[in-house]
Amino acid sequence: MVLVYIAFGSNLGNRIDHVRQMTSELEYIGGATMRCSSLWLSEATEMDSDAGDFVNGVIELKTKLSALALLDRLQQIEVAMGRPADHGFHTARVIDLDIICYGNQVISTPRLTVPHPRAHERAFVLNPLFELAPELKLPGLDQSLSEMIGKAPPMKILQLPPNQAEKNGSLA
Ligand code: ATP
Ligand code: CA
Ligand code: CA
Repeated sequence: MVLVYIAFGSNLGNRIDHVRQMTSELEYIGGATMRCSSLWLSEATEMDSDAGDFVNGVIELKTKLSALALLDRLQQIEVAMGRPADHGFHTARVIDLDIICYGNQVISTPRLTVPHPRAHERAFVLNPLFELAPELKLPGLDQSLSEMIGKAPPMKILQLPPNQAEKNGSLA
């Protein structure tokens, strides 16, 4: 079994419902040992200017799937939940699932780069990842997660308390 961390984000429609649906899909892979960070509200960066705030988080699970088979499965979930397979790079999405790391493997293929090449500079990935695994080292990178959090470009981000995670809030 390989320990993996998967970042998720939704900024379209009922984001909390999408996260819930995605979590139950991932339970088929992760089983009882799956853990989910709290939910974080973050401003859309790198996106078209009218994109809404994201609900973000990270899931930890153990899997027997190979890294590519896991990516296949995550992309099937995205499509089944209504994300067009030929989506534009910067468009709003019902759900986005990225493999942040896959055990201690470093993978560089046309379809898959692991650790995710932009995870170390994204507060909306680093903060929920730190919640689940504060001591985690991303393979190939020297810095600790807390160092990366300190150096990540500033952005609007808010940790949702569990009782507010039921609502679809906004940062504005
Ligand atoms: P970003 O990768 O910057 O977060 P994005 O998530 O919006 O952007 P997508 O359009 O969802 O990008 O994915 C584009 C492609 O990235 C996917 O088709 C997939 O093959 C590839 N990819 C490479 N590495 C990874 C990874 N670690 N996790 C998920 N997809 C990856
Ligand atoms: Ca992404
Ligand atoms: Ca993605």
